[in-house]
Amino acid sequence: MRSTVSAILFLVFAAISPAQQTPPASHFDGNSWWSHVKFLADDSLEGRDTGSEGLRKAQAYAVEQFQKAGLEPAGTNGFYQPVRFNQYEVDEAKSSLALVTNGQAKTLSFADDAFIGSRSTCTSTALSAPLVFIGYGLKIPEKNLDELAGLDLKGKIVVYLAGSPADIPTALASHYQTAGERWKSLHAAGVIGTITIFNPASMDIPWSRISINRNHPSMDLADAEFNETSGQQLGVAFNPASAEQLFAGSGHTFAEIASLGKDRKPLPHFPLAVSLQAKAVILTKSLESANVAAKLTGSDPALKNEFVVLSAHIDHVGIGAPINGDRIYNGAMDDGSGSALVMDIAASLKAHPEKRQRSILFLLVTAEEKGLLGSKYFAAHPTVAAKSIVADVNVDMFLPIVPLKILKIGGLEESDLGTRAAAIAQSMGIKPIADPEPLRNTFIRSDQYNFIRHGVPAVKCDVGFELSSPEQKIFKDWLTNRYHAPSDDVNQPVDLQSAAGYEEFTRRLLLETANTPARPRWKPDSFFRRYAAN
Ligand SMILES: [Zn+2]
Repeated sequence: MRSTVSAILFLVFAAISPAQQTPPASHFDGNSWWSHVKFLADDSLEGRDTGSEGLRKAQAYAVEQFQKAGLEPAGTNGFYQPVRFNQYEVDEAKSSLALVTNGQAKTLSFADDAFIGSRSTCTSTALSAPLVFIGYGLKIPEKNLDELAGLDLKGKIVVYLAGSPADIPTALASHYQTAGERWKSLHAAGVIGTITIFNPASMDIPWSRISINRNHPSMDLADAEFNETSGQQLGVAFNPASAEQLFAGSGHTFAEIASLGKDRKPLPHFPLAVSLQAKAVILTKSLESANVAAKLTGSDPALKNEFVVLSAHIDHVGIGAPINGDRIYNGAMDDGSGSALVMDIAASLKAHPEKRQRSILFLLVTAEEKGLLGSKYFAAHPTVAAKSIVADVNVDMFLPIVPLKILKIGGLEESDLGTRAAAIAQSMGIKPIADPEPLRNTFIRSDQYNFIRHGVPAVKCDVGFELSSPEQKIFKDWLTNRYHAPSDDVNQPVDLQSAAGYEEFTRRLLLETANTPARPRWKPDSFFRRYAAN
């Protein structure tokens, strides 16, 4: 059915010559996007794990699409920017964790209680150390928060609850919860290891599903300049359902901590009565993967030397523990959806060219799932001049699983790029909102964060929902059942109209940013402005 308004508009435009025609309300129908998702999430690509044949196939497909769209290569080796990694894997058969009370050791079950994180335990170790509970484990000078103050942490393993107090703004809390920032203050205090208790109030995935894939190898960038946690000997992830035993004899209970943590209230800090005995055997190997970069050169003689980046990660987590008999973690939404959008937008700009004064860089990064590593490498070693990157529009798992009525804009309050994104959404009849679930930490959980840390204003937008609405339950169920599971595949329901609307929004945001003479800027009071200072 056609609305009255569009019928009238049709008559108006029919009288105008083709050259003057206004662009269509949307350049997208969702179908071409979905066909790319179907290719990327096919079982034959085996979940696109970093370093795998499946990821190489996905990247070759992307290069083909970029060529079809008339893009120029913007890597260091054609469209590719090779990146070297080290891989770490815990040999659980030779490793162990035990809690010790008055000389009595109680072995912990890796499956049910706690496991050794290979991301934060990069070399084999055998150690025994007292434990200290440090609340959320945060030191945030801007807010005069120092949860390490007054505690003797030298040679200790610290235990903390994932999360942050409510009076700390999201972006600030997110920043200080990155592994590198967190480790800076812990290392300075003499800490040798960490135990992270997942916060039951903010777990995207139930423990059973986290635990089932705990042996999946982790990776880090091979170049020494990227090592942010030197001195950390051990990192342990703890099941909140088993956490009570950590607090035995301390005068506190985990139930008390969890209930404070649920409401983001301040937490107490105190030494624990138990200590940890750990033996970790870590297997390492090196491997190589690549980012894929392509560009569309702008028309303005000066501005064409500046780039608006459209980024998404093309890797996913590969093959893992079977769930309902399926071992392939297809990553259709995460982030086949974003990668497909990058290819689809490139094609749309060829089919419907429009004035672009700045250049656009189409970037498909690798190893996002390993800790934002491909983008970390790219942001440190960009294939175009670092100062020429004016903005990053990152797309990761934007979840078009409900109609696009609300758009969640990560970074909305931080820069005028956020303001612009909100205005464009509004002009399309979509309500822009800031992140309604700050505890999930999504602002630091995707690739835009590496651009932000290099001073580049960035946004990450997602199809959103109102708190306590039926849509919220759809998203919650999606995270519980499909996020990082084999069922994030092409057999799930998606809303093609919603995807098309999101693509149109993204296209407009890119073009407006490419055509606005002033570069996007951080807001004067944004925490992230500091990175742009030099
Ligand atoms: Zn993911």
